[in-house]
Amino acid sequence: MARYTGPVCKLCRREGMKLFLKGERCFKEKCAVERRAYAPGEHGKRRNKMQPYGLQLREKQKVRRVYGVLEAQFRRYFEEAARQKGVTGENLLRLLELRLDNVVYSLGFASSRAQARQLVRHGHILVNGRKVNIPSFSVKPGMEIALREKMRSNLFVQEALETAQARGVPPWLELDAENFKGKVLALPTRSDIRTPVQEQLIVELYSR
Ligand code: SF4
Repeated sequence: MARYTGPVCKLCRREGMKLFLKGERCFKEKCAVERRAYAPGEHGKRRNKMQPYGLQLREKQKVRRVYGVLEAQFRRYFEEAARQKGVTGENLLRLLELRLDNVVYSLGFASSRAQARQLVRHGHILVNGRKVNIPSFSVKPGMEIALREKMRSNLFVQEALETAQARGVPPWLELDAENFKGKVLALPTRSDIRTPVQEQLIVELYSR
């Protein structure tokens, strides 16, 4: 599956907020949002009042960028969310949260979703004891996610795990840091999802 490979700090500057796409760097002074808190490009410093369509579009782009999903796949997530029972916006966020790369990041085995995606792609993640190398794989309650033995001594992984433990693991996941394992306890509810999103704007955008 294709992925965005351009400069990621520009994406944060475009959305006017930290999207935490680069791991450790996001918490340091080097963060581009801290140094240049305006949109990229020639007209980035202009203040434009956004119309409703612009607000909806920006919200959708923000969520896509946070989870590292391209447009076509994001649209498929939305269609699936609309087919499910319940509130479409919440369903959409739940589907995104349940992606294996997001779970690996949330458990703290990686410092960013991009790094988590790489761990998955390179076959370092086991789901219920079996290798799964598909970042969009959707986890289910009861599944056990583990890091393969040979990656456990990796410095980046250990640093990420320390940071995640300090940050705290979402309540719908359980982390066994000593054994580099985690478990999906339940489906995430809206209050469990930390991403600052107004999901109803995305629903409005796709309902036009
Ligand atoms: Fe975004 Fe992180 Fe880059 Fe800051 S350092 S602009 S939060 S990706």
